[in-house]
Amino acid sequence: MSIILDKVNYVYSPGTAYEKQALKDISLVLEDGDFIGLIGHTGSGKSTLIQHMNGLMRATSGGVYYNGADIYDKDYSLRELRKKVGLVFQYPEHQLFETTVLADVKFGPANLGLTPLEVDLRAYEALRQVGIGDELIDASPFELSGGQKRRVAIAGVLAMQPEVLILDEPTAGLDPRGRDEILDRIAAIHEERHITVVLVSHSMEDVAKYVDRIIVMNGGSVAWNDTPRNVFRHYRELEAIGLAAPQVTYALQALHGRGLPVDTDVTTVREARDAVLAWYQKNGRNGLRAEAAGVQGKLYSEEAGGDSPCAGAEKRRGGAR
Ligand code: ADP
Repeated sequence: MSIILDKVNYVYSPGTAYEKQALKDISLVLEDGDFIGLIGHTGSGKSTLIQHMNGLMRATSGGVYYNGADIYDKDYSLRELRKKVGLVFQYPEHQLFETTVLADVKFGPANLGLTPLEVDLRAYEALRQVGIGDELIDASPFELSGGQKRRVAIAGVLAMQPEVLILDEPTAGLDPRGRDEILDRIAAIHEERHITVVLVSHSMEDVAKYVDRIIVMNGGSVAWNDTPRNVFRHYRELEAIGLAAPQVTYALQALHGRGLPVDTDVTTVREARDAVLAWYQKNGRNGLRAEAAGVQGKLYSEEAGGDSPCAGAEKRRGGAR
């Protein structure tokens, strides 16, 4: 289910003192089953961009195609498109309004002309996938924790069975545990449902472990669109636009700088450990064994919850996969 954006431009309040070009010549292809991180500093155009993907906003110029069909064609149903491209807004829990969790999740599918049984099945399945157990389905959404509320709100969109799921800053305002829980769930949903997922974040650290591709937005343009590895190679340039690579990337760069010729293109702690071990196995006998062992020990202690800089980075992202 591909989405193609072809030279999309968007200007807010054109012709007024508040005119602002939020998107500049964006050309992108989102392929079926992609798991994409859309990253950028606040104001870089992420929210504007995702609202073009499901037709909520109309490009000032340029085209958007869903499965090859021009969504701006006068016969194209944007209503149908919005069912296929589910958008979870920032702080979606603010839109919970029903008296029970189940009723809230059923609200969307109940308006699709499905039988009550189908609606129930979709709602239960969506709640299971976001990790909301049976004991909570009759609770008021307002009795839940922040993380639970957000997962219920995501279930409401999932119950529509979208082909593409776009989540705008799904971890915003959550504590590290709630953040990891949501991201792990989203990764599992991507696996299970084989749907395209776009995860919007201002944090590289959050998405590096999960996504296959990162699109970096800067000032309304796409700065990079590549694998996490290839994007994080530009960590100095990323810093210049207010972003940072995952801490483990910096740790490996530092080791490299100190004369350990390890692969520095790693994005997770597990990859870092493998990179150091690979080096050690190759060079362990040449007199640097002691230094390598120290490095190795550090990485192992981090996996066990130690206090190395890498451990901090990985703990925040929910442990190595
Ligand atoms: P992000 O999601 O990356 O924070 P946005 O898409 O919200 O970025 O914003 C992109 C740019 O458009 C910013 O400069 C922002 O100030 C501007 N913008 C966003 N919404 C509006 C609006 N309703 N009216 C005018 N300018 C806006």
